[in-house]
Amino acid sequence: MEKIRESAGWESVFLRACESYENESISRVLNNIFEDIQFPVKNFSGKRVVIKPNLVRKMDIAAAGTTNPVVVEEVAKICIRLGAESVTIAESPAGVYTDSSIRASYRVGKMDLAAENSGANLNYDLSAKRLPSSGEDKNRTFNIITPIADADVVINICKLKTHNLTGISGAVKNFFGVIPGTEKLEMHALYPNLSDFSSMICDLCKTVCDRATVINVMDAVIAMEGNGPTNGKPKKLGFVGVSCDPFALDLVASAVIGMDELSSICDAARKKGYLTQTLDDINVVGDPYQNFICEDFVLPDSSDKNHSGITILSKVFGGKLMESLRPRPVINKDKCIGCGECMRSCPAKTIVIKNKVAYIKKADCIKCFCCQELCPKDAVKVKKNPILKLVNL
Ligand code: SF4
Ligand code: SF4
Repeated sequence: MEKIRESAGWESVFLRACESYENESISRVLNNIFEDIQFPVKNFSGKRVVIKPNLVRKMDIAAAGTTNPVVVEEVAKICIRLGAESVTIAESPAGVYTDSSIRASYRVGKMDLAAENSGANLNYDLSAKRLPSSGEDKNRTFNIITPIADADVVINICKLKTHNLTGISGAVKNFFGVIPGTEKLEMHALYPNLSDFSSMICDLCKTVCDRATVINVMDAVIAMEGNGPTNGKPKKLGFVGVSCDPFALDLVASAVIGMDELSSICDAARKKGYLTQTLDDINVVGDPYQNFICEDFVLPDSSDKNHSGITILSKVFGGKLMESLRPRPVINKDKCIGCGECMRSCPAKTIVIKNKVAYIKKADCIKCFCCQELCPKDAVKVKKNPILKLVNL
């Protein structure tokens, strides 16, 4: 298979309206998009295809925090029809990466049904391979789960969501799930600064894209608004997006939900030269993205909604001060049940449980919001710095 990066049109973004998760609707939309695609991804003959959904943590699919299984099922059917030697669904969710934890994630996320209905396999290989990074930052290698490291073709099926750390979770951020289990926490600890972390995520995404043919599919039929990636609310946007350029796909999606100025991922990708197109430059095929713009999409509590505070202060004081002013997590004691999930997921080890309630020692907090992501009771809230609040008035 010719590398798609060398093919005409690989940077295009394909969008199609899709009203529901009925198999027939998803199949029709995906098949239409694959017919539109001009570059050589139509023949998977003899290729090992790996589908990477977003199964961030065990969540009911109705919460819209995970990739809908029907999208995975229909993509898998297309890959099999196009001659793939094997199609495997693989993901390393947040938390530990063990046989029992991934089985539970597959079951709750209904990936077992997607596999059964399509003929795809589910990955149970817990090994990983260390690959050299495509980026130039201090982390020169990435430990990547073996099925992704060995794949000829990776179909990265993300869910469009807000994200309290990075602004948006789309195609690029979905690659964080190729890092095995709790090693993701080590990466957070290694990159406590938001722009460094976002830059690392872009390098990770680029590393996988440079190694395999990657096709990114965005499930935005029902997205997540508010406090994503796990504590937001479902919001119907009614489209599916596909692109071989994850950075372009994320920029278009960010514009749809009003986050294009607020995504640290898009910002880092632009600075690193991975996002080379402006929104106006991107060749959108199918339905125009303006058809899906959602004016009342609820942004995460951590975002500077009118952007004025961030802009003014960062111009005056630069990035270091902004890092110290970023919103931080606080525990809602009325909701906390003391389960300790946040404590186990804290890269800075700055959470303790006392009398069945979590407490954050804020001096050591790196504001990664892993505690919020993993809390099953939505008991971790975002507290804005009063200075930013003042500037935003
Ligand atoms: S994960 Fe949530 S409910 Fe559990 S201890 Fe932490 S804050 Fe409390
Ligand atoms: S308390 Fe929460 S936000 Fe702070 S370092 Fe720990 S997990 Fe990250």
